[in-house]
Formats: sequence, C-alpha cells, structure tokens
Amino acid sequence: MSSQIDILVAGGGIGGLATALASARAGHRVRLFERAPVFSEVGAGIQISPNVVRVLQSWGLGEALQSVAAFPDRLQVRSALSGRHLGQLTLAGRAEALYGAPYATIHRADLHQLLLTAVQAQADVSLQLNTPVAVAEVGPEGVSLKTGPQKYVEGDVLVGADGLWSGVRQALLGVQPPRVTGHLAFRAMLPQARFPAALRSSSVTAWLGPDLHVVAYPVRAGEWLNVVAIVHGEVQGDLSNWDHGSNASQLLAVLADCCSPLQDLVRAVPEWRLWALCDRPPLSRPEEMAQGRIALLGDAAHPMRPYLAQGAGMALEDAHALTLALAQEALDLPTRLRRYALNRWQRCARVQARAERNGRVFHATGPLQWGRDAAMGLLGEGLLDVPWLYAGDPLNPLPAAHPQ
Ligand code: FAD
Repeated sequence: MSSQIDILVAGGGIGGLATALASARAGHRVRLFERAPVFSEVGAGIQISPNVVRVLQSWGLGEALQSVAAFPDRLQVRSALSGRHLGQLTLAGRAEALYGAPYATIHRADLHQLLLTAVQAQADVSLQLNTPVAVAEVGPEGVSLKTGPQKYVEGDVLVGADGLWSGVRQALLGVQPPRVTGHLAFRAMLPQARFPAALRSSSVTAWLGPDLHVVAYPVRAGEWLNVVAIVHGEVQGDLSNWDHGSNASQLLAVLADCCSPLQDLVRAVPEWRLWALCDRPPLSRPEEMAQGRIALLGDAAHPMRPYLAQGAGMALEDAHALTLALAQEALDLPTRLRRYALNRWQRCARVQARAERNGRVFHATGPLQWGRDAAMGLLGEGLLDVPWLYAGDPLNPLPAAHPQ
C-alpha cells in the first residue's frame, strides 16, 4: 500500500464514485463533494464492454455486477428502413474467450448504486452531498476547494469528475463550452413484460437509418428493456440543465419511413426523456487531463458522443489508471498526475474520435449507406468488434499488437 494521499473529488457521478472507490482501496483519504442533494442517476441504461468489466472485477465488483446487469447474447445490426439484418457480433462466450470478461448492459442507477455501496464500505472516505464546489487556490503544497460561503477544504490533489460542464476544467483550461452536436437522444426503459413478446430481447439491437439510429438492450438481469433513439435536431435554452420529457408521437414523426417492427418498439413506450447531446473535440495533449495538482476524469476530461458506448467506461478506466499512477511514490504528486494524463489521453482521444465517426456511419445516407450495409454483410464480426478497445490495457492504451 502506498503512503496516504489526501484526495479531493469534485462530483459524485459514475466517474467520481469510481475515483473514490479506487483511491480508498489504495489506502488514500478521500473527500468527495456532490452538488446534488441526493446521489442519483437518470433512468437509462449503459453498455459496459469487457475492458470496463475487467476494471470493475479488479475492484471486487464482479459478483455485484453479475446480480444486477444483463449479459446480452449478441449485438445485431438491422436496417431501420427495411428491418433487414445487416450484421451481428456474438457477445456471450466470445467476449470472455477473447477479452477475459463478459459484455454487460446495466441500468445506470444500478451501476451507480453498486459503486456507492462499495465506497461506503471503505474507511477514510467522506461523501458530502448538497455541496457545489469550486477551485479556490492551487499552490506548490496543495489545493484548496471552496465548498460554501467562507468554507474551504484543503487536500494534496483535486480530481475534477464534475461532468460535461465541469467547473474544475474551466479553472484548469479556461472557458470553452462543449460542442452542441445537433443530435437528440430519446431514452426510455420499461419492464420487458410491458412489451409485446415479439419485441422483448436478450440482445443489443442497433437499427441504422438515414440521420438516425435506435439501440435497444436488456438491463436489470434481463427483466427490463432500455431503448435509446438518436435523431438529428436542435433545441433551445440552457443545455447544461436540459432534460425534457417527450412522448412517442414526437419520435414517431421522425421515424415515419422506418420499418414496422421499429415503429412498434417505439409505439410501445409511452414516455421518453429527451436530451440534447454535446461533446468536445478529441483531446489533443496530456495537459488537457492533468496539470499540477489537478486531474480531470470522465466527461470533465473527454465528453464524447455515445456511439461507441464508452463514456462511463472511460471514466472507470481513468479512475483505475489514476490510482496506479498515484502509487508511483518515487515521483512527486504533479508528476504522478502527469503520468496519469500521459497514460490516458491518447486512448481517450481515440475513443472520442471513433465515437464521432460511428455517428457518421450509423446515420449514413446514399452511397455511404449502401457501402456500409454491403461491408457489414461481408465483414460482419470483423466490422463490429473493437479489439484495440476491448483488449486494451488502460496503462498501455495503444498496444502495437492490436490492429485497427
Ligand atoms: P457525470 O455523470 O456528469 O457526473 C458528474 C457529477 O458531478 C454529477 O453528479 C454532477 O451533479 C456533479 N457536479 C457537477 N458540478 C459540480 C460541482 N461544481 N460541485 C459538485 N458536484 C458537481 N457510457 C458508456 O460507458 N456506455 C454507454 O452505453 C453509454 N450510453 C450513453 C447514452 C447516452 C444517450 C448518453 C447521453 C451517454 C451515454 N454514455 C455511455 C456516457 C456516460 O453516460 C457518461 O460518459 C458518464 O455518465 C460520465 O460520468 P461522469 O461521472 O464523468 O460525469
């Protein structure tokens, strides 16, 4: 165990809780501050690929994951217009055999709760709700965080895990608002029993159409189905606080040309939550992830489009990599944080770029769409698998042995 470091964490989302857990397990003192009055996560699902499941297993969370997640049998890709099967990737069995861990899908709240329970079982962690924080001062000996009017806490390092609109990032890198992608996400989750039998599923299904795609997969040990539809569109107002209700008719209007099984799926869901998606360009240098005694992690560092299903995954890998870097006691703390950034930034940038590219491929029209569908039929698994990502070690992010 390395000598104790006093770690301040801004934000108690998946990234912040993962940081608290990994740091506390390594014997550090952690104080985490979350601005919301309760720890909670929105009602939506996330996919957790084998690279991320391995991280959770290394923290002793494999069994807990087993009890709440679903483990889809395959990823199938279909045309949103014709319903035709375009390609598929076997997941169950194959992921374990190739990458040493299964491919899981989980309710965000279940992942969040699993991390929270594990953090609360650790010694020397304090979790403070209702506490929006701001960077007060960074000096050669430590960092000071403002936790309220005339209230400050001091620590050795600060981890900014405060999400897309991160104030810690702003203090470190200056004001550069996230990019508005022009894509909207409609999300919903229902017990599978509420869907007609033909629409229930134990697979991840991606429906690709012009300027849209829809993804459905099981969560909650297979008992619920998560559905997310991404379409092109703009919204007005303050995007940092933008989470709207919507209904099926709004979405069905966009999917008017789509095949009936897809329309039936959407029609079966009465209520949707609607998000305007934002991201940032891929990281271009390690200084965007750490400087001095401050490190950024998760969406605060590298918010991405969800088309590779890796945003939360990269936050979990970050937390793992940060702990390993902090264990290098021969180095001073700013150098350890720089190691963390050096180990992470290229992999995260590559994931950001691939997620953006996937969006263009998923939403293709005209010749690009025909080329995509033909390639999917010919190459199938070869196109859908992502060995450099699923096999990649967060500390050795781009091993030459892996293709692509
Ligand atoms: P957040 O979850 O944003 O957490 C930040 C926390 O910081 C919040 O709790 C916030 O209240 C708090 N905070 C903010 N400011 C302050 C402050 N000043 N003081 C204190 N607290 C503060 N990822 C995947 O891995 N797989 C998927 O399949 C997947 N699907 C997705 C689908 C969609 C439609 C979307 C939109 C995203 C998806 N993601 C997916 C991405 C994933 O949701 C995010 O990358 C991940 O949740 C980021 O976690 P985070 O902890 O970094 O940030």
